[in-house]
Amino acid sequence: LFISVEGIDGSGKSTQARLLSEALRGAGYDVVATREPGGAPGAEAIRRLLVEGDPARWSPETEILLFNAARRDHLERTIQPALDRGAVVVSDRFADSTRVYQGVARASLRPLVDRLHDLVIGLEPDLTFVIDMDARAALSRGLARQSGEDRFEELGLGFQEALRAGFLALAQEYPDRVQIIDGARPPDAIAQDVATRVAARLP
Ligand code: C5P
Repeated sequence: LFISVEGIDGSGKSTQARLLSEALRGAGYDVVATREPGGAPGAEAIRRLLVEGDPARWSPETEILLFNAARRDHLERTIQPALDRGAVVVSDRFADSTRVYQGVARASLRPLVDRLHDLVIGLEPDLTFVIDMDARAALSRGLARQSGEDRFEELGLGFQEALRAGFLALAQEYPDRVQIIDGARPPDAIAQDVATRVAARLP
């Protein structure tokens, strides 16, 4: 089973991905917890190229190519081997992030995103949770975290709102796969909700 957790920066998606992995491990499942951009040594090297430096370092088109290069490496080295041995994979972000960040919010490049995905990835998660959160609240959470080394965090409220709308639209586009989770609740309540939905899909 391949599960991805998506959402805007500051939505709590990484916390939820971690809590889900812990819950599944506690229930005895073989779990591979991973993330994007990254999730394999080569893909983590590409992540550093993507997140560090000048915000204008890459054009949106180049960014899409780098995200796909990282994702292909992640798929080959981490995700596919784990799925082949029957593990549950929980990924903090996957291709939906590229559909929304580069396809809608940063640029209107969804056709390019889709063509590249079909060419070099071609895999979708079985289940995707979008941790949905008010853009302003998520932004102040993200800024409070102050990683300071992430060039994407400069982009502001309008950008966060476009991202949120993009993620919500994915649930219309992929109704069998994408589930919207109310991220305004306490983390434990959200985790319980997510765990219940996953249990319905597990053997
Ligand atoms: O989720 P995480 O914080 O690890 O993502 C790293 C950075 O990359 C974030 O600032 C996120 O907004 C950005 N990102 C992006 N396009 C993607 C995926 C992530 O701009 N497709």
